[in-house]
Amino acid sequence: MILRDALNRVINLLYEGQPTGHATSLKDYENLFPVIGVPAIAKSYQEDEVFAYTRVAGYNPVMIERVSSLGDRFPVTEEHYQAVMGTDDSLAAAGLEGRLYLADYKILSGVINGTYPHEQKYVYAPLALFALPKGSDATRLLRPVAIQCGQTPGPDYPIVTPNSGKYAWLFAKTVVQIADANIYEAVTHLARTHLLVGVFAIATARQLPLTHPLRILLRPHFDSTLAINNAAQQILIAPGGGVDRLLSPSIDNSRVLAVLGLQSYGFNSAILPRQFQQRGVDDPNLLPVYPYRDDALLVWDTIHQWVSDYLELYYPTDENIQKDIALQTWAAEISAYDGGRIRDFGEDGGIKTLNYLIDATTLIIFTASAQHAAVNFPQKDLMGYAAAIPLAGYLPASTLKREVTEQDYLNLLPPLDQAQRQYNLLSLLGSIYYNKLGEYEQGYFTDEKVKPLLQGFQSHLQQVENTIKQRNLHRPAYEYLLPSKIPQSINI
Ligand code: MN
Repeated sequence: MILRDALNRVINLLYEGQPTGHATSLKDYENLFPVIGVPAIAKSYQEDEVFAYTRVAGYNPVMIERVSSLGDRFPVTEEHYQAVMGTDDSLAAAGLEGRLYLADYKILSGVINGTYPHEQKYVYAPLALFALPKGSDATRLLRPVAIQCGQTPGPDYPIVTPNSGKYAWLFAKTVVQIADANIYEAVTHLARTHLLVGVFAIATARQLPLTHPLRILLRPHFDSTLAINNAAQQILIAPGGGVDRLLSPSIDNSRVLAVLGLQSYGFNSAILPRQFQQRGVDDPNLLPVYPYRDDALLVWDTIHQWVSDYLELYYPTDENIQKDIALQTWAAEISAYDGGRIRDFGEDGGIKTLNYLIDATTLIIFTASAQHAAVNFPQKDLMGYAAAIPLAGYLPASTLKREVTEQDYLNLLPPLDQAQRQYNLLSLLGSIYYNKLGEYEQGYFTDEKVKPLLQGFQSHLQQVENTIKQRNLHRPAYEYLLPSKIPQSINI
Protein backbone atom coordinates (compact mmCIF):
# COMPACT_ATOMS: atom_id res chain seq x y z
CA MET A 1 0.00 0.00 0.00
CA ILE A 2 2.78 2.43 0.98
CA LEU A 3 4.71 1.44 -2.10
CA ARG A 4 1.66 2.01 -4.30
CA ASP A 5 1.07 5.49 -2.83
CA ALA A 6 4.70 6.40 -3.40
CA LEU A 7 4.52 5.10 -6.96
CA ASN A 8 1.36 7.10 -7.61
CA ARG A 9 3.09 10.26 -6.37
CA VAL A 10 5.96 9.64 -8.77
CA ILE A 11 3.52 9.07 -11.64
CA ASN A 12 1.67 12.28 -10.83
CA LEU A 13 4.94 14.21 -10.79
CA LEU A 14 5.68 12.88 -14.27
CA TYR A 15 2.43 14.40 -15.52
CA GLU A 16 3.25 17.82 -14.07
CA GLY A 17 3.98 20.34 -16.77
CA GLN A 18 2.17 18.24 -19.40
CA PRO A 19 -0.55 19.95 -21.44
CA THR A 20 -4.02 19.91 -19.88
CA GLY A 21 -7.48 21.14 -20.83
CA HIS A 22 -9.35 20.66 -24.09
CA ALA A 23 -7.57 20.81 -27.40
CA THR A 24 -7.97 23.87 -29.62
CA SER A 25 -6.76 21.93 -32.64
CA LEU A 26 -6.27 18.24 -33.50
CA LYS A 27 -2.58 19.08 -33.73
CA ASP A 28 -2.57 19.26 -29.92
CA TYR A 29 -3.10 15.47 -29.79
CA GLU A 30 -0.32 14.85 -32.28
CA ASN A 31 1.97 17.04 -30.19
CA LEU A 32 1.62 14.57 -27.32
CA PHE A 33 3.94 12.28 -29.31
CA PRO A 34 7.18 14.24 -29.68
CA VAL A 35 9.42 11.16 -29.51
CA ILE A 36 7.72 7.85 -30.34
CA GLY A 37 5.77 9.12 -33.33
CA VAL A 38 2.06 9.72 -33.80
CA PRO A 39 0.06 6.44 -34.09
CA ALA A 40 -0.87 5.67 -37.71
CA ILE A 41 -4.60 5.78 -36.95
CA ALA A 42 -4.34 9.56 -36.46
CA LYS A 43 -4.18 9.97 -40.24
CA SER A 44 -7.12 7.76 -41.20
CA TYR A 45 -9.71 7.61 -38.45
CA GLN A 46 -11.95 10.36 -39.82
CA GLU A 47 -12.62 8.42 -43.03
CA ASP A 48 -15.99 6.69 -43.20
CA GLU A 49 -14.41 3.57 -44.63
CA VAL A 50 -12.13 3.27 -41.60
CA PHE A 51 -15.04 3.88 -39.22
CA ALA A 52 -16.95 1.03 -40.86
CA TYR A 53 -13.91 -1.25 -41.08
CA THR A 54 -13.45 -0.85 -37.31
CA ARG A 55 -16.71 -2.81 -36.89
CA VAL A 56 -15.29 -5.87 -38.68
CA ALA A 57 -11.56 -5.69 -37.91
CA GLY A 58 -11.22 -3.40 -34.90
CA TYR A 59 -10.88 -3.73 -31.15
CA ASN A 60 -14.53 -4.71 -30.62
CA PRO A 61 -15.50 -6.66 -33.77
CA VAL A 62 -18.56 -8.31 -32.23
CA MET A 63 -21.28 -5.65 -32.33
CA ILE A 64 -22.88 -5.54 -35.76
CA GLU A 65 -26.02 -7.53 -36.49
CA ARG A 66 -27.81 -8.04 -39.78
CA VAL A 67 -31.30 -6.51 -39.72
CA SER A 68 -34.08 -6.56 -42.30
CA SER A 69 -35.63 -3.28 -41.15
CA LEU A 70 -35.14 -0.69 -38.43
CA GLY A 71 -38.55 -0.13 -36.92
CA ASP A 72 -39.75 2.93 -35.03
CA ARG A 73 -36.76 3.08 -32.75
CA PHE A 74 -34.46 4.33 -35.49
CA PRO A 75 -36.56 6.00 -38.22
CA VAL A 76 -34.02 6.31 -41.01
CA THR A 77 -35.83 7.33 -44.22
CA GLU A 78 -35.30 6.36 -47.86
CA GLU A 79 -34.08 9.90 -48.37
CA HIS A 80 -31.39 9.54 -45.71
CA TYR A 81 -30.40 6.20 -47.19
CA GLN A 82 -30.31 7.20 -50.83
CA ALA A 83 -28.29 10.33 -50.09
CA VAL A 84 -25.49 7.99 -48.98
CA MET A 85 -25.98 4.83 -51.04
CA GLY A 86 -27.33 6.36 -54.26
CA THR A 87 -30.78 6.72 -55.78
CA ASP A 88 -30.55 3.39 -57.62
CA ASP A 89 -30.59 1.63 -54.24
CA SER A 90 -33.17 1.68 -51.47
CA LEU A 91 -33.37 1.02 -47.74
CA ALA A 92 -36.19 -1.47 -48.27
CA ALA A 93 -34.26 -3.42 -50.92
CA ALA A 94 -31.11 -3.42 -48.78
CA GLY A 95 -33.11 -4.86 -45.88
CA LEU A 96 -34.60 -7.61 -48.05
CA GLU A 97 -31.25 -8.47 -49.58
CA GLY A 98 -29.36 -8.78 -46.29
CA ARG A 99 -27.30 -5.64 -46.79
CA LEU A 100 -28.25 -3.73 -43.60
CA TYR A 101 -26.21 -4.00 -40.40
CA LEU A 102 -26.90 -2.35 -37.07
CA ALA A 103 -24.63 -1.56 -34.14
CA ASP A 104 -26.88 -1.08 -31.13
CA TYR A 105 -25.48 0.19 -27.82
CA LYS A 106 -28.72 -0.24 -25.89
CA ILE A 107 -27.01 -1.84 -22.88
CA LEU A 108 -25.56 1.63 -22.14
CA SER A 109 -28.88 3.43 -21.82
CA GLY A 110 -29.46 4.74 -18.32
CA VAL A 111 -25.82 4.31 -17.34
CA ILE A 112 -24.68 6.90 -14.79
CA ASN A 113 -22.18 9.45 -16.09
CA GLY A 114 -18.86 9.67 -14.28
CA THR A 115 -17.01 12.79 -13.15
CA TYR A 116 -13.64 11.47 -12.00
CA PRO A 117 -11.09 13.06 -11.84
CA HIS A 118 -12.64 16.51 -12.25
CA GLU A 119 -14.85 16.95 -15.32
CA GLN A 120 -18.35 15.83 -16.27
CA LYS A 121 -18.19 12.85 -18.64
CA TYR A 122 -20.98 11.36 -20.75
CA VAL A 123 -21.89 7.88 -21.88
CA TYR A 124 -24.24 7.35 -24.82
CA ALA A 125 -26.45 4.55 -26.13
CA PRO A 126 -26.39 5.20 -29.88
CA LEU A 127 -27.64 3.22 -32.86
CA ALA A 128 -25.52 3.13 -35.99
CA LEU A 129 -26.65 1.84 -39.38
CA PHE A 130 -24.26 0.40 -41.95
CA ALA A 131 -25.03 -0.88 -45.43
CA LEU A 132 -23.31 -2.81 -48.16
CA PRO A 133 -23.54 -1.56 -51.74
CA LYS A 134 -25.51 -3.68 -54.20
CA GLY A 135 -23.82 -6.36 -56.24
CA SER A 136 -21.75 -9.46 -55.73
CA ASP A 137 -18.25 -8.00 -55.57
CA ALA A 138 -16.31 -9.91 -52.88
CA THR A 139 -14.49 -6.74 -51.79
CA ARG A 140 -17.64 -4.74 -50.97
CA LEU A 141 -17.18 -2.85 -47.70
CA LEU A 142 -19.73 -1.62 -45.20
CA ARG A 143 -20.55 2.06 -45.30
CA PRO A 144 -21.93 4.10 -42.42
CA VAL A 145 -25.37 5.45 -43.36
CA ALA A 146 -26.90 7.07 -40.27
CA ILE A 147 -26.40 7.48 -36.54
CA GLN A 148 -28.88 8.29 -33.78
CA CYS A 149 -27.08 9.10 -30.53
CA GLY A 150 -29.81 7.75 -28.20
CA GLN A 151 -32.38 4.96 -28.15
CA THR A 152 -35.48 7.19 -28.50
CA PRO A 153 -36.04 9.09 -31.73
CA GLY A 154 -37.06 12.73 -31.50
CA PRO A 155 -35.59 16.21 -31.17
CA ASP A 156 -33.06 15.13 -28.51
CA TYR A 157 -31.52 12.57 -30.81
CA PRO A 158 -31.69 13.72 -34.43
CA ILE A 159 -30.66 11.28 -37.16
CA VAL A 160 -27.22 12.31 -38.35
CA THR A 161 -25.77 11.28 -41.72
CA PRO A 162 -22.63 12.07 -43.72
CA ASN A 163 -24.68 14.91 -45.21
CA SER A 164 -25.44 16.60 -41.89
CA GLY A 165 -22.27 18.70 -41.98
CA LYS A 166 -18.64 17.76 -41.40
CA TYR A 167 -18.52 18.32 -37.64
CA ALA A 168 -22.01 16.99 -36.86
CA TRP A 169 -21.12 13.73 -38.63
CA LEU A 170 -17.71 13.53 -36.98
CA PHE A 171 -19.33 14.23 -33.61
CA ALA A 172 -21.91 11.45 -34.13
CA LYS A 173 -19.29 8.95 -35.28
CA THR A 174 -17.20 9.84 -32.23
CA VAL A 175 -20.20 9.23 -29.95
CA VAL A 176 -20.42 5.72 -31.45
CA GLN A 177 -16.71 5.12 -30.86
CA ILE A 178 -17.07 6.24 -27.24
CA ALA A 179 -20.02 3.89 -26.66
CA ASP A 180 -18.13 1.13 -28.43
CA ALA A 181 -15.01 1.68 -26.32
CA ASN A 182 -17.05 1.56 -23.10
CA ILE A 183 -18.82 -1.67 -24.07
CA TYR A 184 -15.50 -3.01 -25.21
CA GLU A 185 -13.65 -2.51 -21.91
CA ALA A 186 -16.41 -3.58 -19.51
CA VAL A 187 -18.21 -6.25 -21.54
CA THR A 188 -16.27 -7.62 -24.51
CA HIS A 189 -12.86 -7.55 -22.86
CA LEU A 190 -13.20 -7.68 -19.07
CA ALA A 191 -16.44 -9.66 -18.66
CA ARG A 192 -16.44 -11.95 -21.67
CA THR A 193 -12.78 -12.94 -21.68
CA HIS A 194 -11.10 -12.23 -18.30
CA LEU A 195 -14.01 -12.90 -15.95
CA LEU A 196 -15.51 -15.73 -18.00
CA VAL A 197 -12.23 -17.64 -18.07
CA GLY A 198 -11.70 -16.90 -14.36
CA VAL A 199 -14.78 -18.99 -13.56
CA PHE A 200 -13.36 -22.00 -15.41
CA ALA A 201 -9.93 -21.53 -13.84
CA ILE A 202 -11.45 -21.73 -10.36
CA ALA A 203 -13.83 -24.65 -11.03
CA THR A 204 -11.06 -26.62 -12.75
CA ALA A 205 -8.66 -26.16 -9.83
CA ARG A 206 -11.36 -27.04 -7.31
CA GLN A 207 -13.11 -29.97 -8.95
CA LEU A 208 -10.78 -31.79 -11.35
CA PRO A 209 -7.99 -33.93 -9.85
CA LEU A 210 -4.41 -33.05 -10.85
CA THR A 211 -4.20 -36.07 -13.14
CA HIS A 212 -7.59 -35.54 -14.79
CA PRO A 213 -7.09 -35.30 -18.58
CA LEU A 214 -9.33 -32.24 -18.93
CA ARG A 215 -7.45 -30.45 -16.17
CA ILE A 216 -4.17 -31.24 -17.91
CA LEU A 217 -5.53 -29.93 -21.19
CA LEU A 218 -6.94 -26.70 -19.74
CA ARG A 219 -4.41 -25.67 -17.11
CA PRO A 220 -1.89 -23.85 -19.39
CA HIS A 221 -4.77 -21.70 -20.65
CA PHE A 222 -5.44 -20.37 -17.14
CA ASP A 223 -1.88 -19.32 -16.42
CA SER A 224 -1.80 -15.97 -14.53
CA THR A 225 -5.47 -15.24 -15.26
CA LEU A 226 -6.62 -15.11 -11.65
CA ALA A 227 -3.64 -12.91 -10.79
CA ILE A 228 -4.39 -10.35 -13.52
CA ASN A 229 -8.11 -10.46 -12.68
CA ASN A 230 -7.30 -9.79 -9.07
CA ALA A 231 -5.03 -6.89 -10.02
CA ALA A 232 -7.75 -5.48 -12.28
CA GLN A 233 -10.25 -5.68 -9.46
CA GLN A 234 -7.91 -4.01 -6.94
CA ILE A 235 -6.34 -1.35 -9.15
CA LEU A 236 -7.71 -0.87 -12.66
CA ILE A 237 -11.43 -1.02 -11.92
CA ALA A 238 -11.21 0.35 -8.38
CA PRO A 239 -12.38 3.85 -7.42
CA GLY A 240 -9.72 6.33 -8.58
CA GLY A 241 -8.13 3.75 -10.92
CA GLY A 242 -7.63 3.87 -14.68
CA VAL A 243 -11.21 2.91 -15.59
CA ASP A 244 -12.70 5.47 -13.20
CA ARG A 245 -10.42 8.14 -14.59
CA LEU A 246 -10.63 7.43 -18.31
CA LEU A 247 -13.99 5.82 -19.10
CA SER A 248 -17.40 7.48 -19.26
CA PRO A 249 -19.51 5.91 -16.50
CA SER A 250 -19.18 6.23 -12.75
CA ILE A 251 -16.88 3.51 -11.44
CA ASP A 252 -19.76 1.70 -9.76
CA ASN A 253 -21.61 1.66 -13.04
CA SER A 254 -18.58 0.41 -14.99
CA ARG A 255 -18.40 -2.48 -12.55
CA VAL A 256 -22.12 -3.14 -12.93
CA LEU A 257 -21.68 -3.20 -16.72
CA ALA A 258 -19.01 -5.87 -16.38
CA VAL A 259 -21.37 -7.97 -14.24
CA LEU A 260 -24.22 -7.49 -16.71
CA GLY A 261 -21.87 -8.34 -19.55
CA LEU A 262 -21.09 -11.69 -17.98
CA GLN A 263 -24.62 -12.47 -16.76
CA SER A 264 -26.11 -11.77 -20.16
CA TYR A 265 -23.62 -14.05 -21.93
CA GLY A 266 -25.15 -17.47 -22.52
CA PHE A 267 -22.32 -19.97 -22.81
CA ASN A 268 -23.99 -22.29 -25.28
CA SER A 269 -24.92 -19.51 -27.67
CA ALA A 270 -21.35 -18.21 -27.47
CA ILE A 271 -20.03 -21.31 -29.32
CA LEU A 272 -18.33 -19.36 -32.10
CA PRO A 273 -20.08 -20.50 -35.30
CA ARG A 274 -23.41 -20.09 -33.48
CA GLN A 275 -22.49 -16.56 -32.38
CA PHE A 276 -21.97 -15.49 -35.98
CA GLN A 277 -25.23 -17.14 -37.06
CA GLN A 278 -27.18 -15.41 -34.33
CA ARG A 279 -25.91 -12.01 -35.38
CA GLY A 280 -26.63 -12.88 -39.01
CA VAL A 281 -23.02 -12.31 -40.04
CA ASP A 282 -21.99 -15.89 -40.79
CA ASP A 283 -22.54 -15.89 -44.55
CA PRO A 284 -19.57 -14.53 -46.55
CA ASN A 285 -21.83 -14.11 -49.58
CA LEU A 286 -23.91 -11.59 -47.66
CA LEU A 287 -21.08 -9.94 -45.72
CA PRO A 288 -17.91 -10.60 -47.69
CA VAL A 289 -15.32 -8.58 -45.72
CA TYR A 290 -15.17 -9.55 -42.04
CA PRO A 291 -11.54 -10.28 -41.15
CA TYR A 292 -12.25 -11.05 -37.48
CA ARG A 293 -14.90 -13.64 -38.41
CA ASP A 294 -12.78 -15.31 -41.07
CA ASP A 295 -9.61 -15.53 -38.98
CA ALA A 296 -11.42 -16.43 -35.75
CA LEU A 297 -13.14 -19.37 -37.45
CA LEU A 298 -9.81 -20.67 -38.76
CA VAL A 299 -8.32 -20.61 -35.27
CA TRP A 300 -11.53 -22.05 -33.80
CA ASP A 301 -11.46 -25.02 -36.16
CA THR A 302 -7.82 -25.68 -35.32
CA ILE A 303 -8.46 -25.67 -31.57
CA HIS A 304 -11.59 -27.76 -32.09
CA GLN A 305 -9.64 -30.44 -33.95
CA TRP A 306 -6.96 -30.58 -31.24
CA VAL A 307 -9.50 -30.75 -28.40
CA SER A 308 -11.45 -33.40 -30.23
CA ASP A 309 -8.34 -35.55 -30.93
CA TYR A 310 -7.24 -35.20 -27.32
CA LEU A 311 -10.55 -35.89 -25.59
CA GLU A 312 -11.29 -38.90 -27.81
CA LEU A 313 -8.25 -40.58 -26.23
CA TYR A 314 -9.90 -40.51 -22.82
CA TYR A 315 -13.60 -40.70 -23.60
CA PRO A 316 -14.26 -43.42 -26.18
CA THR A 317 -18.03 -43.21 -25.62
CA ASP A 318 -20.59 -40.76 -24.24
CA GLU A 319 -21.09 -43.13 -21.35
CA ASN A 320 -17.53 -42.45 -20.19
CA ILE A 321 -18.46 -38.79 -19.99
CA GLN A 322 -21.65 -39.43 -18.04
CA LYS A 323 -19.85 -41.65 -15.52
CA ASP A 324 -17.00 -39.21 -14.87
CA ILE A 325 -18.07 -37.92 -11.46
CA ALA A 326 -15.34 -35.24 -11.25
CA LEU A 327 -16.36 -33.89 -14.66
CA GLN A 328 -20.02 -33.75 -13.68
CA THR A 329 -19.19 -31.98 -10.40
CA TRP A 330 -17.06 -29.51 -12.37
CA ALA A 331 -19.97 -28.79 -14.73
CA ALA A 332 -22.37 -28.35 -11.82
CA GLU A 333 -20.09 -25.86 -10.08
CA ILE A 334 -19.70 -23.78 -13.24
CA SER A 335 -23.40 -23.04 -13.46
CA ALA A 336 -24.29 -23.16 -9.74
CA TYR A 337 -25.58 -19.99 -8.08
CA ASP A 338 -23.06 -20.46 -5.28
CA GLY A 339 -20.42 -21.31 -7.89
CA GLY A 340 -19.52 -19.82 -11.27
CA ARG A 341 -23.03 -18.64 -12.24
CA ILE A 342 -22.35 -19.19 -15.94
CA ARG A 343 -25.67 -19.00 -17.73
CA ASP A 344 -26.76 -21.63 -20.25
CA PHE A 345 -23.91 -24.07 -19.62
CA GLY A 346 -24.13 -27.82 -20.13
CA GLU A 347 -26.78 -30.16 -21.51
CA ASP A 348 -29.73 -30.17 -19.08
CA GLY A 349 -27.53 -29.49 -16.11
CA GLY A 350 -24.76 -31.95 -16.81
CA ILE A 351 -22.49 -33.04 -19.63
CA LYS A 352 -23.90 -35.93 -21.59
CA THR A 353 -21.99 -36.18 -24.83
CA LEU A 354 -18.43 -36.04 -26.06
CA ASN A 355 -19.50 -33.61 -28.77
CA TYR A 356 -20.73 -31.15 -26.18
CA LEU A 357 -17.57 -31.48 -24.11
CA ILE A 358 -15.49 -30.81 -27.22
CA ASP A 359 -17.46 -27.67 -28.09
CA ALA A 360 -17.39 -26.38 -24.53
CA THR A 361 -13.67 -27.05 -24.08
CA THR A 362 -12.95 -25.41 -27.43
CA LEU A 363 -14.83 -22.29 -26.35
CA ILE A 364 -12.90 -22.13 -23.07
CA ILE A 365 -9.50 -22.45 -24.78
CA PHE A 366 -10.50 -20.15 -27.66
CA THR A 367 -11.67 -17.45 -25.24
CA ALA A 368 -8.55 -17.71 -23.07
CA SER A 369 -6.25 -17.50 -26.09
CA ALA A 370 -7.58 -16.21 -29.41
CA GLN A 371 -10.58 -14.14 -28.33
CA HIS A 372 -8.59 -12.39 -25.64
CA ALA A 373 -5.77 -11.68 -28.11
CA ALA A 374 -8.24 -10.31 -30.68
CA VAL A 375 -9.64 -7.83 -28.19
CA ASN A 376 -6.69 -7.12 -25.89
CA PHE A 377 -3.91 -6.22 -28.29
CA PRO A 378 -5.72 -3.58 -30.40
CA GLN A 379 -5.64 -1.48 -27.23
CA LYS A 380 -2.19 -0.29 -28.18
CA ASP A 381 -2.39 0.41 -31.91
CA LEU A 382 -6.04 1.30 -32.34
CA MET A 383 -7.23 2.62 -29.01
CA GLY A 384 -4.25 4.48 -27.63
CA TYR A 385 -4.85 7.57 -29.72
CA ALA A 386 -7.64 9.33 -27.82
CA ALA A 387 -8.75 11.62 -30.63
CA ALA A 388 -9.60 8.54 -32.72
CA ILE A 389 -11.08 6.33 -29.98
CA PRO A 390 -11.92 8.41 -26.91
CA LEU A 391 -12.67 6.33 -23.82
CA ALA A 392 -15.12 9.00 -22.64
CA GLY A 393 -17.12 11.90 -24.10
CA TYR A 394 -17.08 15.35 -22.53
CA LEU A 395 -20.17 16.91 -24.14
CA PRO A 396 -23.76 15.61 -24.15
CA ALA A 397 -25.19 14.07 -27.32
CA SER A 398 -27.83 16.82 -27.31
CA THR A 399 -25.12 19.15 -28.65
CA LEU A 400 -26.25 17.74 -32.01
CA LYS A 401 -29.56 19.62 -31.72
CA ARG A 402 -27.72 22.75 -32.86
CA GLU A 403 -25.05 23.37 -35.42
CA VAL A 404 -21.84 21.63 -34.36
CA THR A 405 -18.56 23.52 -34.67
CA GLU A 406 -15.00 22.29 -34.80
CA GLN A 407 -14.52 23.44 -31.19
CA ASP A 408 -17.60 21.44 -30.12
CA TYR A 409 -16.01 18.39 -31.65
CA LEU A 410 -12.74 19.12 -29.85
CA ASN A 411 -14.62 19.65 -26.57
CA LEU A 412 -16.27 16.25 -26.97
CA LEU A 413 -12.82 14.63 -27.02
CA PRO A 414 -10.78 13.93 -23.88
CA PRO A 415 -8.73 16.77 -22.40
CA LEU A 416 -5.04 16.48 -23.26
CA ASP A 417 -3.89 15.09 -19.90
CA GLN A 418 -6.56 12.39 -20.13
CA ALA A 419 -5.47 11.63 -23.71
CA GLN A 420 -1.91 11.21 -22.50
CA ARG A 421 -2.96 8.84 -19.72
CA GLN A 422 -5.14 6.85 -22.14
CA TYR A 423 -2.14 6.21 -24.36
CA ASN A 424 0.10 5.31 -21.42
CA LEU A 425 -2.36 2.78 -19.98
CA LEU A 426 -3.58 1.18 -23.20
CA SER A 427 -0.18 0.90 -24.82
CA LEU A 428 0.99 -0.95 -21.72
CA LEU A 429 -2.02 -3.29 -21.66
CA GLY A 430 -1.65 -3.95 -25.38
CA SER A 431 2.08 -4.70 -25.38
CA ILE A 432 2.65 -7.73 -23.20
CA TYR A 433 3.01 -11.02 -25.05
CA TYR A 434 4.00 -13.83 -22.71
CA ASN A 435 3.91 -17.07 -24.70
CA LYS A 436 2.25 -18.60 -27.77
CA LEU A 437 -0.82 -20.70 -28.46
CA GLY A 438 0.12 -24.36 -28.82
CA GLU A 439 3.52 -24.04 -27.12
CA TYR A 440 3.57 -26.09 -23.94
CA GLU A 441 6.47 -26.60 -21.57
CA GLN A 442 8.85 -29.35 -22.64
CA GLY A 443 7.38 -32.69 -21.59
CA TYR A 444 4.14 -31.13 -20.32
CA PHE A 445 1.98 -33.92 -21.71
CA THR A 446 3.34 -37.15 -20.30
CA ASP A 447 0.93 -39.39 -22.18
CA GLU A 448 2.84 -40.65 -25.24
CA LYS A 449 -0.38 -40.83 -27.24
CA VAL A 450 -0.75 -37.05 -27.00
CA LYS A 451 2.54 -36.24 -28.71
CA PRO A 452 1.53 -36.84 -32.34
CA LEU A 453 -1.77 -35.03 -31.72
CA LEU A 454 0.09 -32.03 -30.35
CA GLN A 455 2.40 -32.03 -33.36
CA GLY A 456 -0.69 -32.02 -35.56
CA PHE A 457 -2.10 -29.03 -33.65
CA GLN A 458 1.15 -27.11 -33.96
CA SER A 459 1.50 -27.71 -37.69
CA HIS A 460 -2.16 -26.82 -38.19
CA LEU A 461 -1.51 -23.52 -36.38
CA GLN A 462 1.42 -22.88 -38.72
CA GLN A 463 -0.91 -23.36 -41.69
CA VAL A 464 -3.35 -20.87 -40.17
CA GLU A 465 -0.46 -18.43 -39.74
CA ASN A 466 0.36 -18.75 -43.43
CA THR A 467 -3.27 -18.41 -44.52
CA ILE A 468 -3.74 -15.22 -42.50
CA LYS A 469 -0.50 -13.76 -43.84
CA GLN A 470 -1.74 -14.56 -47.34
CA ARG A 471 -5.06 -12.86 -46.60
CA ASN A 472 -3.23 -9.79 -45.37
CA LEU A 473 -1.71 -9.31 -48.80
CA HIS A 474 -5.21 -8.52 -50.07
CA ARG A 475 -6.73 -6.49 -47.24
CA PRO A 476 -5.65 -3.87 -44.70
CA ALA A 477 -3.53 -6.06 -42.43
CA TYR A 478 -5.47 -7.72 -39.61
CA GLU A 479 -2.85 -9.42 -37.45
CA TYR A 480 -4.49 -9.95 -34.08
CA LEU A 481 -5.39 -13.58 -34.79
CA LEU A 482 -2.08 -14.67 -36.23
CA PRO A 483 -1.33 -17.73 -34.05
CA SER A 484 2.17 -16.37 -33.39
CA LYS A 485 0.53 -13.36 -31.71
CA ILE A 486 -1.93 -15.32 -29.59
CA PRO A 487 -0.76 -16.10 -26.04
CA GLN A 488 -1.84 -19.35 -24.38
CA SER A 489 -3.68 -17.57 -21.58
CA ILE A 490 -4.98 -14.25 -20.31
CA ASN A 491 -2.23 -12.64 -18.31
CA ILE A 492 -2.64 -8.94 -19.13
MN1 MN B 1 -6.76 -8.25 -21.20
